[in-house]
Amino acid sequence: MVWRDNNTGSKSIADRVIEEDFAHRQDQPWCNSDSCHDEILLENLDLELKPAGVDTVIVLHMLGSHGPAYYQRYPPSFAAFKPECRSGELSACTPDEIRNTYDNTIRYTDHVLARAIDWLESRKDYRTAMLFASDHGESTGEHGLFLHGAPMFMAPDEQTHVPVLAWLSPDYQQSTRFDWSCASRRGGREVSHDYWFHTALGLSRTRTSVYRSGLDLFYGCSDSDLMQAESEGSPTAPPA
Ligand SMILES: [Zn+2]
Repeated sequence: MVWRDNNTGSKSIADRVIEEDFAHRQDQPWCNSDSCHDEILLENLDLELKPAGVDTVIVLHMLGSHGPAYYQRYPPSFAAFKPECRSGELSACTPDEIRNTYDNTIRYTDHVLARAIDWLESRKDYRTAMLFASDHGESTGEHGLFLHGAPMFMAPDEQTHVPVLAWLSPDYQQSTRFDWSCASRRGGREVSHDYWFHTALGLSRTRTSVYRSGLDLFYGCSDSDLMQAESEGSPTAPPA
């Protein structure tokens, strides 16, 4: 496993694996004096792969839409929504400018995730999957609030409702007999970040006593033993 960081570090989560800092690089065209755009996390991903047949997990800790300098989170070509707020001082901008700029960050994150999926899809020698979630939402002027971090008991939905996204390669779906209709039925439920850890363990077929199937979003939606049995039988064989 490797942890690639373009945010404020792993806070010791990655102590026992390799942690690579991308946030303080100066690589062009991604970085300026303040920060780097998230696409830097996709550089040379092939180098993180083990020989075919050996499982690996790559964490991309994105900077995402973190403000207040939203305009620094994306390249100028992603400024579809204008006028922007080209300042870290939100009081210098109108609510519309702030929202436009925030929406541009979302558009850029979509692009970064699409590129990550393109890469996963291109690695036909692996059964690939991606799981994405935001750490929190953001207030952009609703109820007179901005940014995030309001105490949980009073935080508005804008700060506490976050997207989660999963992408599974066709080969992954086939080899686990993954059932999307089962998974999408779960989509209507209210879930929380508590599910993230166990869903990641389930998707990666990690066997550990701390796994709780009740907090795995996709538990029961695939044949959980299929892939495991196969990899135990032939640990070095490339996928069929
Ligand atoms: Zn955050």
